[in-house]
Amino acid sequence: MIQRYWAMDESGQFREKVSALGEVVQLPQGVTLAAFIRQRCNAFDENQICPQCEELVEVRNRSQACKSALRSTTLCTRCRKERDALALEAEKTKAAELVSVLAEYRRTQACHVVDYSAITDAQVLLLSALDKAVTPRLTNAGFTLADCRGLAPRYFDEFVETLKSAGLLLEDPSKAKPGTYYWNGDEVWQISAQVAYLLMPGSAGVNANEVIRSLSARVYTDRDGIFNLWLDYAVAAVMCYLGDQCKWYGHELGEQEWDEIKSTLRAALHTYSVSQLWFVAWKVVKDAASLASHQYYNRVKAAATIPGKIRRYLERVKRESIELRYWSRPEQQPGGTLGMLFDEVFDIDEDTSGVAATLRIARATGQEHADEIDAQLCAPIRDLMIDALALDAGTSVMLRFAELIRAGYDVGCAVEEIGDSLQREHADDHSAQSSSAGQQS
Ligand SMILES: [Zn+2]
Repeated sequence: MIQRYWAMDESGQFREKVSALGEVVQLPQGVTLAAFIRQRCNAFDENQICPQCEELVEVRNRSQACKSALRSTTLCTRCRKERDALALEAEKTKAAELVSVLAEYRRTQACHVVDYSAITDAQVLLLSALDKAVTPRLTNAGFTLADCRGLAPRYFDEFVETLKSAGLLLEDPSKAKPGTYYWNGDEVWQISAQVAYLLMPGSAGVNANEVIRSLSARVYTDRDGIFNLWLDYAVAAVMCYLGDQCKWYGHELGEQEWDEIKSTLRAALHTYSVSQLWFVAWKVVKDAASLASHQYYNRVKAAATIPGKIRRYLERVKRESIELRYWSRPEQQPGGTLGMLFDEVFDIDEDTSGVAATLRIARATGQEHADEIDAQLCAPIRDLMIDALALDAGTSVMLRFAELIRAGYDVGCAVEEIGDSLQREHADDHSAQSSSAGQQS
């Protein structure tokens, strides 16, 4: 039966059909003829020779057999097993190497500790918001970029990126899904979306939870830094709504146009509230949509008018002192944990105008009168500098200034004190000069 199954003529055709042979023997239920034959013999194809050991290659069924002699590319069973074993061994070695490379990578990052009392106010706010968005994974289990969606309505990845580039987040391969890091040749590559991050360790002995607690006790003083973060956040809130509106009407904008809009909005947010700019976004996108249905326009051209329309509309609002409407929060657009934090700490939300936001941040940071103080100091400092240079007393003035500051004087008092003494000396010099002049005469 086996002989008949494998018998071939000179042209490489099998002499008998499988279906015909199948009727010769009684096959058990569910067993094919090929399986029946395979159980009872090992067949080697004289037309296929193993390229490695030059033995005949084993074939399991008729379709694997060759019609004519051929330098086979298939290895024989034994060579294949040897090769597979070698490959498995190499793979194991590489895998072990990857584990140690990644452990080393984590170790070198964790060597740098962060002094959390020295980071900026904006970084404190962002970290606190991030902690709320991914809690408790910032401090222990690790989080991925996608986990940070709750941070802000849009550009949450850019916010996380600023923390990363400030060295406040640690990439922890041991917390990432298996397969996140892999060899590509001799380089380790990663699947960015699966990379897991953690809070960088604080100074020795301070654990991550204590770091987070210390952030909430921060006394904010950096007025400009915080206002800039508010602008970043507010731009994201407006852009989220604008993006949704554009999608709804099928407007497709290029990257350059988005950037242009972002700049316009950022400038406008110094004056207006997020909700007022939601209204502008709604109006402009709707106008562009009606333009698209105009016979001389097409969709692409109409979409391209959006950045210009926003700018011109805002210019008109300013020129004609138009009262901008307040739009209510779009459905399905939560403010994110960063928005909540601004509300909690500074009492600023989507309805707060840019002007009011500036004032509230200034008040909360104790910088409300900073500009006035600057202005008050301007004239005395200017006078002091002029006098000091005129009298060629620059060095002694600076040394005296440093001395007074160290002694606890504030800048205003120190300037006043030095200014007075400088004038006294000047007057003494004068009288000395005139008295000596008197003697001469
Ligand atoms: Zn072989």
